[in-house]
Amino acid sequence: MKVLRTPAEVHALREELRRQPVTVGLVPTMGYLHEGHNSLLRAAREENDVVVMSLFVNPTQFRAGEDLSAYPRDEERDLAIARSSGVDYIYAPEPDAVYPSGFASRVEVEGLTEVLCGAEQSRGAGHFAGVTTIVAKLLNAIDPDVAYLGQKDAQQATVIRRLVEDLEFRTKIVILPTVRERDGLAMSSRNAYLSPEARERATAIWASLLETEKAFAEAGLEPALEAGRRHLEEAGITPEYFEARYPGTLDPADGIGSDPILVAVSATVDGTRLIDNILIEPSRSLNGAGAPQAATTPRRTR
Ligand code: AMP
Repeated sequence: MKVLRTPAEVHALREELRRQPVTVGLVPTMGYLHEGHNSLLRAAREENDVVVMSLFVNPTQFRAGEDLSAYPRDEERDLAIARSSGVDYIYAPEPDAVYPSGFASRVEVEGLTEVLCGAEQSRGAGHFAGVTTIVAKLLNAIDPDVAYLGQKDAQQATVIRRLVEDLEFRTKIVILPTVRERDGLAMSSRNAYLSPEARERATAIWASLLETEKAFAEAGLEPALEAGRRHLEEAGITPEYFEARYPGTLDPADGIGSDPILVAVSATVDGTRLIDNILIEPSRSLNGAGAPQAATTPRRTR
């Protein structure tokens, strides 16, 4: 496994690979790897000749006052995990290499980035401008055949799909299911911040989404959202948002019809901002409450 630190090294690698009949899979990460990242690395390893993982805590997607300096980092451990997952190249640049003095460009996706995590009372659309700018740079430099993303960040995945289509990147986007702890908490690098008490309380997030899914089958969307919110409140958690949207457009869902509904939640537990979501399939729900729900079954979308 080789570690690349500069765009020039990435460009040289891409030139070399272009001369060979190989497919390249990219897994973009901010590091502090867990099983969620690993599931993406495994898929990339199985499906490509060459696997590139980017490891970069992108400063421009953090808001002033957010946890940029405290974001958990352990490069040595990440490199060891990546090596054992069969990664061929790690791109781990310093911020100055990505944003040299004079850097002035910004890639923005409108609309989709202004709701949920992009709403002003949450992280703001500037967060996603940071994400789409760095992803555009990575796709441009690495030019992967496939990029692997997690359903855990459902809005981010929708925004990146839009970006790829709009700007005609030739990379195929694959979205893999959320990997969870045994008690349902979605794996996240930020879980490392949680005290044992907060960690225990945070399990209410996934439980509230399951509650919503169950109530949807029995009572419809609005009562289901209320049931989910109530579940969180009973655990002493006030969500920033707890909303139902259509996953492709992020338009508010009305729950009428058979289109899948994304119920997404963001909540701060003991100072740590956590997000999660569930995809409810109305047609399945109507076949019986409590039927195995879609969000935990593998869902590959290209
Ligand atoms: P991050 O390092 O948090 O920026 O995440 C890098 C990639 O891993 C993103 O595509 C995330 O959606 C994905 N990811 C993060 N957590 C999980 C998880 N629990 N299950 C699946 N994918 C995840």
